[in-house]
Amino acid sequence: MPPDVLETLVSLCKRRGFIFQSSEIYGGTGSVWDYGPLGVELKNNVKARWWQSMVRERGDIEGLDAAILMHPKVWEASGHVSGFSDPLIDCKACKSRFRADKMDEARCPRKPSKHPGEYADCQLTEPRQFNLMFKTFMGPVEESASVVYLRPETAQGIFVNFLNVQQATRQKVPFGIAQIGKAFRNEITPGNFIFRTREFEQMEMQFFVEPGTDMEHFEAWKARRMEWHLSLGLDPSRLEFHQHAPDELAHYAKAAFDIQFDFGGTLGFQEIEGVHNRGDFDLRRHQEFSTKKLEYVDQVKNTRYLPFVIETSVGADRVTLAILANALREELVPGETEGRTVLGFHPALAPIKAGVFPLTKKDGQPEMAEKLAVDLRKKFPVFYDEAGAIGRRYRRQDEAGTPFGITIDSDSTKNDDVTIRFRDDMGQIRVSSSRVAGVIGEYLAADIPTADSRLVP
Ligand code: ATP
Repeated sequence: MPPDVLETLVSLCKRRGFIFQSSEIYGGTGSVWDYGPLGVELKNNVKARWWQSMVRERGDIEGLDAAILMHPKVWEASGHVSGFSDPLIDCKACKSRFRADKMDEARCPRKPSKHPGEYADCQLTEPRQFNLMFKTFMGPVEESASVVYLRPETAQGIFVNFLNVQQATRQKVPFGIAQIGKAFRNEITPGNFIFRTREFEQMEMQFFVEPGTDMEHFEAWKARRMEWHLSLGLDPSRLEFHQHAPDELAHYAKAAFDIQFDFGGTLGFQEIEGVHNRGDFDLRRHQEFSTKKLEYVDQVKNTRYLPFVIETSVGADRVTLAILANALREELVPGETEGRTVLGFHPALAPIKAGVFPLTKKDGQPEMAEKLAVDLRKKFPVFYDEAGAIGRRYRRQDEAGTPFGITIDSDSTKNDDVTIRFRDDMGQIRVSSSRVAGVIGEYLAADIPTADSRLVP
């Protein structure tokens, strides 16, 4: 049986420096991952694209960067202290823990792996509630009065700053506040690589609207968010909406849809983003717990009210995993016995945009190539490589998802031109050195990674 797509990705990501297990030399930390040189570029590109579409391109959404540590009362008001828990079942025989609501998917760690409870000596406990928030202490005294939590979502930083942002920017409802930041959840059953981890990054936006107009905004945001995922090059047939049934709805939600992506293999379709109509739950609770008025004053209509909130909440790591799974191709190359592994990223997301390769290490080729690499690095990330057979150098960049390869050969030093090779169709074009940056810039701007396109000069 071929390895599951996640297994292939875990080993490719480690080999090529996308993602490493945290503290690996100590045996690893449970479900925490570090982004390596290529991974940090890829995830930064995802976050930059989200910020561009959600903040920069909109006059009605403001950015925010709220702190991870917040007043502990925030989490009482939000319902996380009393309600942010999963039902947990322990097995006293093998010491494993399972989510009571996911027993169908759960597997016992013993070999051969079975469902929990299927071995004669399994000893499953009754389900009990387990709070997912990480607790720590603020200041030098470890006592209950100094307990603080690592935020389990970024949204609450937005709610408590709602009036600060509104008054500072003089935005009028409807308007939104967006932020990107770390969140922490002590998940009972983390796993599937970076799909479910205990430390992760969220990209969240809360859109404040007049009550009564909420469903119309909810529908509009659902459509916009799906468009955004498509704009990353995710295959449309691998994306779908999943509507929350009444019994799936979170305590705060009036309506909710997930955007799911088909990761393939054993994982299949899973949530990557949630779009929620939160009503006025959060602002009302913060108003009550803080005793500070959080109403919006509509000066034109001469009314005051607590706005309703449409939330879009997406995991930067989950989208990065979706992009990796979507991009991975193992294919045959005509005329070659060895196939190639390609990460066919959308060019805007690729960690490195171009590889620069002197064909040989003599005749001034490395000097010309290095000079070109230095020039191009001012515009986009470039990888310079002069070692080994040219075919192998191309393959290494295919595997890193680099959309363009620039080769300097013996004609280049005479005619001052180079070859640009395209990752996806392996087509090649010849352009003068002075035009390389411009030509690649045009391809990047047009999101076109193949040679047989209208941009070929
Ligand atoms: P799930 O049902 O998968 O636990 P959730 O419904 O609790 O997710 P939300 O609270 O709606 O998730 O969080 C919004 C987004 O944050 C999710 O769509 C996902 O992309 C991301 N996210 C949530 N939990 C994790 C996690 N443990 N690891 C990585 N990303 C996460």
